[in-house]
Order: sequence, then C-alpha cells, then structure tokens
Amino acid sequence: MSRESHAEIWEFTPRQREVVRRLLRGLAPKQIALTLNVDVRTIYWHVENIYRLAGVHSVGEFFAWAHRHRECCGLELVWDEPPRRAAG
Ligand SMILES: [Zn+2]
Repeated sequence: MSRESHAEIWEFTPRQREVVRRLLRGLAPKQIALTLNVDVRTIYWHVENIYRLAGVHSVGEFFAWAHRHRECCGLELVWDEPPRRAAG
C-alpha cells in the first residue's frame, strides 16, 4: 500500500522546481548536475527531498505521481513548457 501526497509545484523550492522540470524531461541525475553546474550529489539530495514531498521512492513512481498530479498540483506548468518569463 502506497501513500502518496499532494505536493503542489509551489511547495518545491525554485531549485527543486528546476530539478523537477529536468526529471520530467527524462534527464538523469548526472545530466541534471551538468545543466545546473553542481555536483551530482547535490542533485541526489534534491531528488531525495522531491521524492519525500511527493511520497514516492523511484523515478518511475515519480513520473506516475507527476502524471496523476499534473492538474491538481500544477505540474503541467513544468511538464514540458519552457519557464514563463516576464515580457520585456
Ligand atoms: Zn495533487
């Protein structure tokens, strides 16, 4: 029996949101570390916290969770859209 949580995208820190966005694009932790220019251990730490918020234990579970929660938790906003920037 799994117990999953709602974790609205706004509950994630800005850094966690960057990691979530990349996870949902299918990037591996090593690739995420490269794109964010940090150590891969930092990414594992972020991923751990992200999984904890979502109540999941693997990237597969995270994907399934994100699919189920894309509307109620606002994850469609990070699914495959570029970040929204203020018009200049
Ligand atoms: Zn939800």
